[in-house]
Amino acid sequence: MTAQWQEQVSLKPYNSFGIDVNARYFTHVRDDVEVRQALAGAAAEDIPVLVVGGGSNLLLTGDVQALVMHMASRGLRVLEDDGERVVVEAEAGEPWHPFVQWALRQGFTGLENLSLIPGTVGAAPMQNIGAYGVEIKDVFAGLTALDRHSGETREFSLEDCAFAYRESVFKRSPGRWLILRVRFALHRTLQAHLEYGPVRQRLREQGIEQPTAQAISDAICAIRREKLPDPAELGNAGSFFKNPVVPMVLAERIRRDHPGLVAYPQGDDQVKLAAGWLIEQAGWKGYREGDAGVHRLQSLVLVNHGQATGAQLHALAGKIQADIHARFGVELEMEPNLY
Ligand code: FAD
Ligand code: NAP
Repeated sequence: MTAQWQEQVSLKPYNSFGIDVNARYFTHVRDDVEVRQALAGAAAEDIPVLVVGGGSNLLLTGDVQALVMHMASRGLRVLEDDGERVVVEAEAGEPWHPFVQWALRQGFTGLENLSLIPGTVGAAPMQNIGAYGVEIKDVFAGLTALDRHSGETREFSLEDCAFAYRESVFKRSPGRWLILRVRFALHRTLQAHLEYGPVRQRLREQGIEQPTAQAISDAICAIRREKLPDPAELGNAGSFFKNPVVPMVLAERIRRDHPGLVAYPQGDDQVKLAAGWLIEQAGWKGYREGDAGVHRLQSLVLVNHGQATGAQLHALAGKIQADIHARFGVELEMEPNLY
């Protein structure tokens, strides 16, 4: 191990579920040089590496027998500005929501619907983060990643990332790519995305007809604060399951018994179902097994009431998946990354 590494470090402050497990080794990395040093040190001693940003999309099921590399690189810069379109670059360790706020303060729009998502810039492309009808693929201008196999850096275009719903080339090859910095194409003129009912409704209630990007961000922050548990108060990793996309015929079959089914057509005879609605219909809302539970307001969010282990949360998730499959014939896929 190198001098900068700490041994047997509790990861409780580094995962939003608040699971109390230890990392065998732990280090903060602040720039590309420190990233390379840490990876080289781990390779020399044949120690696996787990990269962690904000830990808000992780489920840790036991002590991590690896070097946990905490991304702590900082830096925001404007690379291009033609008076309307602006390309900005952010280092991987930048916290996501403060980055969104910074962009709004500069008058740059495009990120407002992604307000108040926890985590870091570097993890955002991992699952093509999305909320309220916008995903980072919609504002993506490129990224720089380190190939952990070859040690070389590579530039990724939008096509290279193969973004899909909560998916990317990075998520599909875990451990291969370390994202160093990400670029975003933003605009001075707002193109508002107000397709999601609650956002429109909140703005209407405030008497706002022509919202600014800041007003949209504020509305979304307010909705999220009301609906979602704050990880600082109740451990969670946001949505625990992806919203399943199923054939229209299956949705129609479910609708026969459940006329209130929440479903959004996706084209190609496919329909996106609201996983939270299915879980709620099955009676899991507010359910609790020891300290592992389902949130009382939002059934898609599993919560740690205090001392739950990752294994207990994982077991509860398995029961929910089996029940939803038995009742509706729908497979729920886990969203957080399991270690
Ligand atoms: P981490 O949890 O630290 O890591 C996630 C994965 O990415 C891990 O596999 C890790 O190894 C890898 N990783 C981290 N950094 C890097 C890097 N630099 N290079 C390569 N790999 C890396 N997600 C949404 O999409 N939309 C939402 O609206 C949303 N809302 C949420 C609300 C709450 C209350 C919570 C707790 C979570 C929510 N999430 C949401 C999930 C989560 O915030 C995002 O997925 C976020 O991008 C995770 O960032 P992170 O830095 O915490 O990643
Ligand atoms: P919601 O408004 O209760 O809606 C339930 C689900 O229906 C959403 O997940 C959304 O799918 C879908 N939906 C709603 N309106 C839609 C529309 N007009 N067109 C297409 N799909 C629509 O959802 P919520 O749980 O409060 O979350 C609000 C937004 O924040 C969602 O986009 C959600 O994904 C995001 N969010 C994500 C996480 C996470 O951890 N991944 C956590 C909290 C919130 P989509 O998820 O595909 O958008």
